[in-house]
Amino acid sequence: MSLNFGRQQLAIPGPSVIPDRVLSAMHRPSPDIYEGELVEISTRVFADLKAVARTKENCAVYISNGHGAWEAALRNTFAEGDEVLVLATGRFAAGWAELARSLGLKTEVIDFGMTADADPNRLEEILRADTGRRFKAVMVVQTDTASSVRNDIPALRKAIDDAGHDALFAVDCIASLGCEPFEMDRWGVDLMVTACQKGLMTPAGMSFVFFGDRCVEARKRARPGGYWDWVPRADPQVFYQYFGGTPPTHHLFGLHEALTMLVHEEGIEQAWRRHETLAQAYWAAIDAWGEGDAMTHNIRDRAKRSRAVSAVVTPAGCARRIRAWTKQEAGVTLGVALGFGQEGDLEYDRRFRIGHMGHQNLPMTFGVIGAIDAAMKALGIGHGRGALEAASAVLAAHGQGA
Ligand SMILES: *Cc1c(COP(=O)(O)O)cnc(C)c1O
Repeated sequence: MSLNFGRQQLAIPGPSVIPDRVLSAMHRPSPDIYEGELVEISTRVFADLKAVARTKENCAVYISNGHGAWEAALRNTFAEGDEVLVLATGRFAAGWAELARSLGLKTEVIDFGMTADADPNRLEEILRADTGRRFKAVMVVQTDTASSVRNDIPALRKAIDDAGHDALFAVDCIASLGCEPFEMDRWGVDLMVTACQKGLMTPAGMSFVFFGDRCVEARKRARPGGYWDWVPRADPQVFYQYFGGTPPTHHLFGLHEALTMLVHEEGIEQAWRRHETLAQAYWAAIDAWGEGDAMTHNIRDRAKRSRAVSAVVTPAGCARRIRAWTKQEAGVTLGVALGFGQEGDLEYDRRFRIGHMGHQNLPMTFGVIGAIDAAMKALGIGHGRGALEAASAVLAAHGQGA
């Protein structure tokens, strides 16, 4: 007899859990798109997006998923034949590089593998050797959702500066924005892409490209024109130009509610701290299960782990069985492996990912940890004891003094 008749919980690394308030805000008739509430909330949405990205620079909005933002960023910044340096630490930077190549850019991909972050020293070395200045940009992902590594963006910026190189610095924050600390202006990021369905807690369908002055300059050479041009979107004369056509009406209502929660009620720095604590609770549980090495973190070094997603490694075949059990018996959907082959492959079947980005709290965290714990007991998979206890201790320490 299955116990799976309550609320389902999606614990994959995007799309993330949508708050009921966001769903309710979207549940309404179509609004007037020329004046009134929609136009007013849009202004607030754009201001709040910049508050989340910690920037005073420009923001262009696209009605697309993250891949659209990837393409928009590239089209507006680079001309055909330009060369970019891509620091790959999982599937996502590689995906961005593939898109760049399909648009006629040359790419040099430095692959740091699936279990390490991008090494700033290596970057500095490569850029020092680039005396001909062939690289127009360095592209990197802050949190790679496949490996769950978190790259050190300020250290990579410093490497570019120490090499005295003038490459633009482009960062994919699709998985990390709103979850991990990120400071576009203070950290000297020139170009940043993100989307609404992860830390921003809204159904997939809106994406954002943030760009600074040096990208405005670069665009003069790129001359994108057409639908993806960011100029009318970032500096519109009339309302529809923000979106290149009809506004994404209901997404705007949803995103407005999500940003109200994130920026005005919780506060972005508090949201970072919440993600930090919840991530540590998951890590403590994984450490407890892993006593005797039954389960390990894909990223061993705590400092290099994402606070938005955790990739877990189990004994052969166990991850596949745990995922199937939690989904069928507990209503908890865990993320599949990404970048480790496909179903039936050894490395794929021994990995799962836990998405803990966006709308997350204690009962949700305990729910996922408890479901995984019960799965291992039900399936007879050997594991260390005390995972819930260990997670509880982390959460209790955060609450002290509250
Ligand atoms: C999810 C994700 C993407 C792709 O976003 P889509 O909305 O699926 O196109 C790109 N980069 C990172 C880091 C992601 O997590």
